[in-house]
Amino acid sequence: MDATIGKRSFPDGKRALVTGGAGFLGFHLCQRLLRDGWQVLATDNLSTGSMENVAALRHEPGYRFIRHDVTEPFNAPVERIFNLACCASPVHYQDDPIKTMRTCLDGCANMLELARQTGARIFQASTSEVYGEPEVHPQTEDYRGAVSTTGPRACYDEGKRCAETLFFDYHRLYGTPIKVGRIFNTYGPRMQAGDGRVVSNLIVQALRNKPMTLNGDGSQTRSFCYVDDLIEAIVRLMDSPEDFTGPVNLGNPSEVTVAELAERIIAITGTRSKIIHRPMPVDDPTRRCPDITLAKQSLDWEPQVSLEEGLRQTVAWFERSLAGAEPQEARRGVA
Ligand code: NAD
Repeated sequence: MDATIGKRSFPDGKRALVTGGAGFLGFHLCQRLLRDGWQVLATDNLSTGSMENVAALRHEPGYRFIRHDVTEPFNAPVERIFNLACCASPVHYQDDPIKTMRTCLDGCANMLELARQTGARIFQASTSEVYGEPEVHPQTEDYRGAVSTTGPRACYDEGKRCAETLFFDYHRLYGTPIKVGRIFNTYGPRMQAGDGRVVSNLIVQALRNKPMTLNGDGSQTRSFCYVDDLIEAIVRLMDSPEDFTGPVNLGNPSEVTVAELAERIIAITGTRSKIIHRPMPVDDPTRRCPDITLAKQSLDWEPQVSLEEGLRQTVAWFERSLAGAEPQEARRGVA
């Protein structure tokens, strides 16, 4: 359904649209923008987003939420567009891979059209997955990636690569002010308990004293960025001079093996859980670490929160969540 938001319902001021606003990063970004004095219009089709995240911000006077699928056109008088809509967890994006690809392509096209019509700046939540199974380590932005076009992750990886292409074509053809951030694994409060991402999975298993499942032998590496650091990077990127488009890596360069991550979670939670191993999923990358030289130079940004501190915050949130004080699982399709 095409949706049009008029100036009457969204009065003049600093107006930002956040697609995927009911998701993990969307929630934290909306919260930050509201604190910074923006009027925030969050949209989401609630496929993995949660109405609890919307409810947590509803009391804010500058906040509005509209259920909308980004693959449909959307009109609103905005100055900034943050395009986050797209399921980020393999469990969810592989559930309906064709929809995932359409979200990446049609969703970006719709948001870029909105940017063209309004003159808004537009941020794209791209991903380290554009590098696929990298042959270069750590990954720099000029590395072009090694991505399967036919594997089960391709709907997301290739979808996000095509999305970047669309962004740069709009920039070249229409002068659209674009900002492309390649986000590496990010974690923190309000991740969904059951969505298969390694940090939330291991924390929830540990808190429930259930076996903690590691893919393969756990020697694959990831670089985990705490959500507050990532949101700061997105805000700085959006505020950066107009001629800085990215793509720019946004992530934490301190690399750990997944096995080390599990050990840290065991130490923080004091769980009785034991580690068990299962086969590596197809096309799961073995190493992942951003080179953030460009972000340091261009955005004067680097992560501030250590893995230890970030994990403590996240464990504390999941403890409250599992005890019923915070949203536990994503509520799918709740209007
Ligand atoms: P998330 O799944 O919590 O949030 C994505 C949101 O998009 C959800 O609320 C979902 O309901 C919504 N959505 C999905 N398809 C949609 C559609 N067709 N129309 C409207 N809404 C739709 O994931 P997240 O971690 O918050 O990720 C946000 C963005 O950041 C995604 O684009 C993701 O690809 C990107 N990203 C995240 C990470 C990470 O580590 N969290 C890493 C790289 C990239």
